[in-house]
Amino acid sequence: PEEASVQRKKFKIKTTGDDIPLPIGSFEDLTTRFQLHRHLLRNLEQQNFSSPTAIQSESIPILLHGRDLIACAPTGSGKTLAFSIPLVQSLKEHKTTGIRCLIVSPTKELATQIYNEVVKLSRGRDLNICILTKAAAAKFRNDALSRQKFDILITTPLRLVDAVKSEIIDLSHVQHLVLDEADKLFEQGFLEQTDDILAACSNPRLQKALFSATIPSGVEEMAKTIMHSPIRIIVGHKEG
Ligand code: ADP
Ligand code: MG
Repeated sequence: PEEASVQRKKFKIKTTGDDIPLPIGSFEDLTTRFQLHRHLLRNLEQQNFSSPTAIQSESIPILLHGRDLIACAPTGSGKTLAFSIPLVQSLKEHKTTGIRCLIVSPTKELATQIYNEVVKLSRGRDLNICILTKAAAAKFRNDALSRQKFDILITTPLRLVDAVKSEIIDLSHVQHLVLDEADKLFEQGFLEQTDDILAACSNPRLQKALFSATIPSGVEEMAKTIMHSPIRIIVGHKEG
């Protein structure tokens, strides 16, 4: 606990919430604390990710404990792995229930980057990952069996809402929802779609996580109304 407070001070990490899990000091800590799958550790090593960034140290244990999270850290600080590692670890293996993990990103480019990182992280694991392109949506439409094929779906809001409304994608089995660049997803242009997505994720035990470089206070207020006992982590906050 003392190490945690030293680390939080050093990296200007501000934490808010009840029963906040201790951060990890290294990726190996995840093996002892959470039985991290050896393939995950190997995939991190192969990409030369030798130690977690500040947001990763804090977020990964929180998400592995199943908690809701509002995470704020600067661009380039490794937020993608901060949510991808716990997702890939929690899903364990492929199931035919349908989408169990949903990652929403405001742009196609960012969604593609996330997809590429999740695919690399999942090497050797039995998990199927889909990015909702136009072609993928057509496949879901024409081949009902393909709807049972994927465990993780990465998408922009509009394409997802279209697919949900035309009933080619069912979000009722989603257990983990990540809103990346959440500040944008709660802006005027996206808000209605984000609300539709939240409504379609009807599983009452849905875990929700918001990641962003900035969380305007209005967004945080909205976020709190849809979350259960969330933890808030801010990296690089201003003093005072
Ligand atoms: P953000 O979403 O916070 O803007 P990204 O997740 O896109 O940041 O990560 C930025 C870069 O940092 C990527 O190239 C990623 O591969 C790299 N990165 C992420 N985590 C680590 C780590 N633990 N060690 C070294 N590099 C990392
Ligand atoms: Mg990012």
